[in-house]
Amino acid sequence: MKNSVHGIHHLTAIAGEAQENLNFYAGVMGMRLVKKSVNQDVPDTYHLFYADGAGTPGTDLTFFPWPSMGPGRLGTGLIVEVPFAVPKGSLKYWRERFDKMGVKYGAVETRFNETTLPFKDPHGLQLALVETDDQREFVPWEKSAVLPEHQLRGMHSVRLWERRLSPTAETLTECMGFSLLGTENGWSRYIVDGGGSGKFIEVKELPQENRGRWGTGAVHHVAWRMKDSEEEMAMREIIFNDGLFPTEQIDRFWFKSVYFREPGEVLFELATDGPGFDRDENMERLGEQLILPPWLEPHRALIEAALPSLEMPRTET
Ligand code: ZN
Repeated sequence: MKNSVHGIHHLTAIAGEAQENLNFYAGVMGMRLVKKSVNQDVPDTYHLFYADGAGTPGTDLTFFPWPSMGPGRLGTGLIVEVPFAVPKGSLKYWRERFDKMGVKYGAVETRFNETTLPFKDPHGLQLALVETDDQREFVPWEKSAVLPEHQLRGMHSVRLWERRLSPTAETLTECMGFSLLGTENGWSRYIVDGGGSGKFIEVKELPQENRGRWGTGAVHHVAWRMKDSEEEMAMREIIFNDGLFPTEQIDRFWFKSVYFREPGEVLFELATDGPGFDRDENMERLGEQLILPPWLEPHRALIEAALPSLEMPRTET
C-alpha cells in the first residue's frame, strides 16, 4: 500500500490574551479544554488544547497565547482558514448562538457543494463552520454549552495560500498520499486516506500575494495523523528523500512529532495517534490542572508564577 497520512491530527494557532481565547473556544464554541500546558520551547507561555469530549485526533485545535506578538499578516506560505465540521442543519443554531453572544459572521457560502459559514475568533483567526453528514470519530462533551447534536465534529479541512501551487501539490500527492478531488474558485481540494470530513486540504495559488507572517490570529502549523511511530518514521524518510528537511522525531509526550516545511513554507507536522491526552490525566479530569511534561516538572513553581491565572468561562447554553 502507498504511504499516506490519515487526515488532520491537530492544528496550532497563535492567540492574544489566554483568558479571551478560553472564553471563546470553551465558552462560545463549546469545545472541551482537554489540556492546559505550556509551550515546551517557551515555558512561560500557555499551550491550550481544545477538542471534543475525549481529545479525539482530528478534533484538537491548540493555541499559544502570545498577546505581545502583534497581529499576523495574511499571505502566502500560511494556513489562512480553519473550517470546522458541524452536522447538517446546524448552521441555524450556530447563527442564533453567534447573534446572542455578539460573534460577527459572514454570508453563508457554498464551497464544493458544502454549506459554509465564515467567521473570525476574537484575535482575528479566520474560521468557518461547514455542514457535513460525513461520519467522524467524535465523542460529545457533556459539559459543553453547545447541544451535542450541534457540537463541532473537528477540523473539516485546512486552507492554504501559496505563491506556486505545483511544488506543494507534488509533495501532497507524491509523498503524503493525497489526490486532487477538484478545483473551484481557484481552490484545489485534495483528499487523503479515502477522503471525507477531516481528510481535506485546499490550496489556492496567489502568485502576486505577499508572504504571510506569524502573529496573533495566524495558524502556526497543521499536524497530520500517523498510526504509530514506525509509520511516522517511514513518512519522515519519504519527506527527506524528496529534498525537504524533516526534524528528528520529537517526543511531545501525548504523541510523537516530526516537523517540516512543505515547499511553499507552510509548517507541517506528522503526529502519532497515541498515546493520547489521558496518558498523564484521568479522562474525567482532562484540562483541569496545569500539566507539564516530566522534564519541566522540576521547574513547576517558577513556570506557574510566570503564567497569567485562567478561569473557566461560565457555561452559557
Ligand atoms: Zn503540533
